[in-house]
Amino acid sequence: MILTNSYTRLPERFFARSALTPVAAPHLIALNRPLAEELGLDADWLAGPEGLAMLSGSEMPEGTDPVALAYAGHQFGQFVPQLGDGRALLLGDVIDRHGVRRDVQLKGSGPTPFSRRGDGRAALGPVLREYLVSEAMAALGVPTTRALAAVTTGETVLRMTALPGAVLARVAASHLRVGTFQFLAVRDDLDGLRALTDYAIERHYPEAREAANPTLAFYDAVVNAQARLIARWMSLGFIHGVMNTDNTSISGETIDYGPCAFLDEYDPGKVFSSIDQGGRYAYANQPRIGMWNLARLAETLLPLIDEDAERAVAAAQESLSRFLNYYENAHLAEMCAKLGLKTAEDGDKELIEGLFDLMAKSAADFTLTFRALSENPDSARALFSAPEDFEAWKARWKARLAREGTEDEARRAAMRAVNPAIIPRNHRIEEVIDAAVQREDFAPFEAMLAAVTTPYEERPDYARPPSPQERVWETFCGT
Ligand code: AMP
Ligand code: MG
Ligand code: MG
Repeated sequence: MILTNSYTRLPERFFARSALTPVAAPHLIALNRPLAEELGLDADWLAGPEGLAMLSGSEMPEGTDPVALAYAGHQFGQFVPQLGDGRALLLGDVIDRHGVRRDVQLKGSGPTPFSRRGDGRAALGPVLREYLVSEAMAALGVPTTRALAAVTTGETVLRMTALPGAVLARVAASHLRVGTFQFLAVRDDLDGLRALTDYAIERHYPEAREAANPTLAFYDAVVNAQARLIARWMSLGFIHGVMNTDNTSISGETIDYGPCAFLDEYDPGKVFSSIDQGGRYAYANQPRIGMWNLARLAETLLPLIDEDAERAVAAAQESLSRFLNYYENAHLAEMCAKLGLKTAEDGDKELIEGLFDLMAKSAADFTLTFRALSENPDSARALFSAPEDFEAWKARWKARLAREGTEDEARRAAMRAVNPAIIPRNHRIEEVIDAAVQREDFAPFEAMLAAVTTPYEERPDYARPPSPQERVWETFCGT
């Protein structure tokens, strides 16, 4: 099997080749057969010795040309001109069954020229976390990178303690990020920016090529894709955790699952990441941060948007200002669907905000609230500390539903199809990781993967929120 690599047709300064570092004893712990099939890859070959050598970064099939990608980025607001794949390797790309080019990348495959101080490796825990959460997100219909395989290395990595090492093979529409553009812009590399923009347009937004100003149309398309992505996150209570510009994809997929988490109880100020002391990437801040990241992308594109600097800034600002519109429209549509509303009416926004206010006051479980409303609103009452306030809200909602005239059973079915019963709850992920790391027991991982990839099916065991003892307060960066 040979992977092509369209990225290596770009100028050499965009990436670095690096020697492979074979691992001691690669062992396959998960293989996503349906995804392999969608990519046109031979799953049996992947599970065999040559496949395992590739998936562990030990040895590549003849003709493969893996590279580490260069990028820069703002991390927690601070600009770092040189980041890059320090523990990842782009193996190449394939054209999938739908005719779409997809990247196959290893994460945790060893040091590269961009490793700086790190060891280029990944621990088993974060690999299992990313596998579960990214596959859950895909099943929830959220644009996301996918997990193709996970392999243990037979080696340990040193973090706070010695932990088993692992490599994740992930698939993305591409690994282009806002930080890729920043890498070239900070070096005043105009030719590079032009080549990168052309590549990104070709790959993700070919319709922009026909526009009067292709760069501006491309930028607008990225703004739109990010606005819709973040609206989708918000509708599920998802917190990305590290919305740095190097983790903001050009294709509009969720990328880089580090200290991410889904909300249990609703709290708009919720932060999970242990390194996010200022709450920059709190749940409710995500749309604002998305817009901030897109402003950083605009800065890199200005010279391509217009030779006249003032005109370029005005055009980029106008495009960026559409973010809020795109976001609010997408968010309202998501929330209306969650409440079973098919039409739009003045006052819908207030109805939605009214529910969130009550949820915040009661610390109501985000997922359970919407699922209960989809099934039996009376069962939702128990989630609220002031049941009479909930009853008042419910009366408004029922009156609003009555004006739509949808039959109750059809509406409930439609609501159940957009309000998941199962999300990958943090305390369950921790149990899965503990079993794998402490006892080499992967059965809990497999059981949880099955549950989170069928998220609209009732599964009381996985639906339950954490008890106070089970609650996970912090998540750590996926190293
Ligand atoms: P991330 O937190 O995954 O977005 O990574 C941010 C930067 O740190 C990127 O340049 C990574 O390549 C680098 N990095 C993170 N972890 C490691 C590691 N274990 N070894 C080398 N580089 C790393
Ligand atoms: Mg990253
Ligand atoms: Mg990361």
